Amino acid sequence: MVIHGFQKMTLVDFPGLVASILFTGGCNFRCPFCQNGSLVLHPDTEPVVSEEEIFSYLEKRRKMIEGVVITGGEPTLQNDLLPFAGRIRALGFKTKLDTNGYRPAVLKEAVREGLFDYVAMDIKNSPDRYAETAGLDDMDISAIKESIEFLLENHVSYEFRTTVMAELHDDESFRQIGEIVNGAERYYLQAYSDAGDVINPVYSTPSKEDMDRYVSILSSYVRNATVRDR
Ligand code: SF4
Repeated sequence: MVIHGFQKMTLVDFPGLVASILFTGGCNFRCPFCQNGSLVLHPDTEPVVSEEEIFSYLEKRRKMIEGVVITGGEPTLQNDLLPFAGRIRALGFKTKLDTNGYRPAVLKEAVREGLFDYVAMDIKNSPDRYAETAGLDDMDISAIKESIEFLLENHVSYEFRTTVMAELHDDESFRQIGEIVNGAERYYLQAYSDAGDVINPVYSTPSKEDMDRYVSILSSYVRNATVRDR
């Protein structure tokens, strides 16, 4: 697999575990608020970390590292995601997949083959503002709904999460999102911040009052809705 970034240790990206993070390149979305702009838009110009380097590190740190997060970009675009995840699991690490959920067939196959212990799926916005928030002219929202419905069936531990922008989200966004994730176990909201390599840094951070109100709206639909501070 082509890995463009390797963070050796994180305490906050895999719930409850000390983990490493691997970053894949390319994405089928163009979210204007994306903080990995170069990785999404120009993966071919990004440095590559060899699989050997990654596995060498992981094998030496088995006592310290408990999990590996595969993120992007969008990892489900990688042809060899499944065997790669299997190789990591075979070493005894827990695995987490970060995905935008736009390739439900890959998500389902990966989960059904038991290759991931945890999935974090982004929910960009309500269906009628999804394409705009994902930076696309048009999109097939049924693919997103298919991934959501699959995760709601509890084949794997999962979370839904949304990066919230003042200009793109409002109360109605979270009422509509609540309807399509109804019954979910965990939902995290993260306030947008324009730190990093943002694709189009024109958006603003929502107020704490707005974030708290969105949590309150989602709490009518999901068991645990909360703001995640980063
Ligand atoms: S935020 Fe995620 S889904 Fe959106 S462009 Fe960036 S990597 Fe892709």
